[in-house]
Amino acid sequence: MTVHIHPSVDGGIKQGSGHFAGGTLVCKCSDKPVKVGVKGDVAHNHACGCTKCWKPSGATFSVVAVVPRENVTVLQNGDKLRIVDQAATIQRHACTGCGTHMFGRIENKGHAFYGLDFIHPELFEESGSAAPGFAAFVSSVIESGVKPSDMTAIRSRLKELGLEPYDCLSPALMDVLANHVATAKAA
Ligand SMILES: [Zn+2]
Ligand SMILES: [Zn+2]
Repeated sequence: MTVHIHPSVDGGIKQGSGHFAGGTLVCKCSDKPVKVGVKGDVAHNHACGCTKCWKPSGATFSVVAVVPRENVTVLQNGDKLRIVDQAATIQRHACTGCGTHMFGRIENKGHAFYGLDFIHPELFEESGSAAPGFAAFVSSVIESGVKPSDMTAIRSRLKELGLEPYDCLSPALMDVLANHVATAKAA
């Protein structure tokens, strides 16, 4: 069985340059594409198996990273953007022309990840942004139709690529969430 994770990692992980200064995210529309400017490099880049993240056709996982929200600016054709689900924690701003999610934003100031926008680095026109470093919500790909019997092959392929598989977020991010809860309780 050939395991496909995501087109940007299936041929091996391309490491970031370590000094990515930012770039422009472009949607898939050939006419009037939405362009979003991002300042600086991305953080916590990872493969994600959840059902909410946007992924290109044929991909089993999305590849998603975070950047400070103040570093994200809609540059062109922002009138094509709509929020996929107003009620979701992460409000995903998608292109109505091609369906690509350009950025996801948390508006709840009490959320541990408030201040960070979620973006898909594969949409950068420029190369060199930080590479994915782990895989999150791996078991959730079953909700998208992957057979449970394929999970052993998927997890071993992720490990082979250097993307340690987790069925929630990475330990570093789970610690951020738990500390947020602990701090809120203490206050
Ligand atoms: Zn588009
Ligand atoms: Zn996801």
